[in-house]
Amino acid sequence: MPGLYRYMEYQQLFTDQLKRLKDEGTYRYFLEVNKSAQHFPRFTYQDEQGNSQQAINWCSNDYLGLSSEESLISRLGFVAHRSGTGSGGTRNISGTTNYHKELEHTLADWHRKEGALLFNGAYQANVTTLQTLGRQLPGLVFFSDERNHASIIEGIRGCRNEKKIFAHNDMEQLEELLQQVPVDQPKLIVFESVYSMSGTIAPVKDIIALARKYQALTYVDEVHAVGLYGKTGAGIFEQEDVQSSVDMVNGTLSKAIGVFGGYIAASSLLIDFIRSFGRGFIFTTSLPPAICAAANTSIQLIQREENRRRQFFSNVQHLRQSLTENGVDFKPNPSHITIIPVAGAEQCRGLARQLLEKQGIYLQPINYPTVPIGEECLRVICTARHLPKHIHHLAWSLKKLLHGDYQTDRQEFPSFALTTGDGEGQD
Ligand code: PLP
Repeated sequence: MPGLYRYMEYQQLFTDQLKRLKDEGTYRYFLEVNKSAQHFPRFTYQDEQGNSQQAINWCSNDYLGLSSEESLISRLGFVAHRSGTGSGGTRNISGTTNYHKELEHTLADWHRKEGALLFNGAYQANVTTLQTLGRQLPGLVFFSDERNHASIIEGIRGCRNEKKIFAHNDMEQLEELLQQVPVDQPKLIVFESVYSMSGTIAPVKDIIALARKYQALTYVDEVHAVGLYGKTGAGIFEQEDVQSSVDMVNGTLSKAIGVFGGYIAASSLLIDFIRSFGRGFIFTTSLPPAICAAANTSIQLIQREENRRRQFFSNVQHLRQSLTENGVDFKPNPSHITIIPVAGAEQCRGLARQLLEKQGIYLQPINYPTVPIGEECLRVICTARHLPKHIHHLAWSLKKLLHGDYQTDRQEFPSFALTTGDGEGQD
C-alpha cells in the first residue's frame, strides 16, 4: 500500500513546478509600478539595489489616462462616502444598488443591446458566459479563433462541448469548419475585435455574414476596443456600424474606461439566461457601488468628449512615425497596438531590461506562451497622456539598442524623458 503523502512532498511538488517555469524562462517577475495620478505615465520603482528610480510606462492599458481623471476620482470618492467601500453581497443577496443598474443601462445603450450584466472583470465575464452557454446547451459547438484570450479558452474548456479552432482571422477555414457541423446543431462563433498581442482586427462583417449563413450565434470580446473605436467609443462593431448584428459583446471597465470590472451586453433574454444560470455571476460579491458610479461617469465622458480619443490615436500615429524616422521596424496593423519584432526570448527580455535600466523605459517583452515561438516582440502601448518628448525618447532609445550602437547611460539623450518640468504628464 502506498505511504501517506507527506507535507514535504507537497512542498517538493510546488518547488518543481516553479523550477520548471524558471528553466523555461516563463517565470514571472513583477516590477513594482508605483503609479502617480498626476504624473502618469511616469512612475517610480525600486531597482535591485533598493534605489528609487523613475520610468515611463509603455505598457499600461489605461489607454486614455482616465484612471487619473479628476472627475472620476471625485465621483468614486463621493459615492464611497455615501455607500461605503464594498457592496457587501452578491447581486441576489443585497448586492444590487441603483449604481449597478444605472451602469448596466448605460452599457446596454452604448452597445445597442437590450441588456447588460456586470462582472468583476472581463475574464470572469468570458469564463462564466461561455461555460454557462456550453453547460446549458450540451450540443453547442464552439468555433474559436486560435488567438483568443486565455479567459475565452478557459471558458470553452470549462464545459465538455465540442470545439473547433480556426486559424487567426481565417474566414475560409471558419467556413469549412462550420460546414462540418450538422445544420440542426447549435453553434457559437467566439472571437475578439482587437487582438492585443498582434494588434490585428477581426473581419467582423465577414464573421457576421458566416454566422447568418450557418445560423450560428456570435460572441465578441471587445476588451481592447471599448472606449477607443467607433463614434462614441463603443468599439469596433460601432465603428463598422454593425452593432445590432452581434449576439453578445464582452467588455472591460478596467482598461480604456480606467476603473474596474467587466460586463457582457446582449438581448434581455440572453442576459436573463446568464444572470440565472451563470455560477461565476451568481456566487460572487458584486462590484462596489462607487466603482460602478465612477465607471458610468467615465463612459459618459468618453461618449461626450472625443478629444481624448483623438489625442490617443494621434499619439499612436506620432509614435509610428517616430519609429520609422529612427529606422525601428514594427509590424503594420490597423489598431493602436505597436509590435516591434525581436527574435528570441532571451534577446527580447534583455532588450526590455536594458530599456528600463538604462533609459527608464518600461515596456513588455512578449514571449512564448503568450505568442508562438519565433514571434517574440516588444509591445508598445501609447496612451493619450504620453507627450512628444516621451515618444521621441522611446524611438531614439530603441534605435540605439536595436542597432547595437548603445554606449553610454541615461544622460546621453539630451532632453531625457524623465526630467521634471512644467506640464510633465499633462494632456
Ligand atoms: N479579454 C482580453 C482580450 C484581455 O486582453 C483581457 C485582459 O485583461 C481580458 C479579457 C480580461 O479583462 P479583465 O482585466 O477585465 O478581467
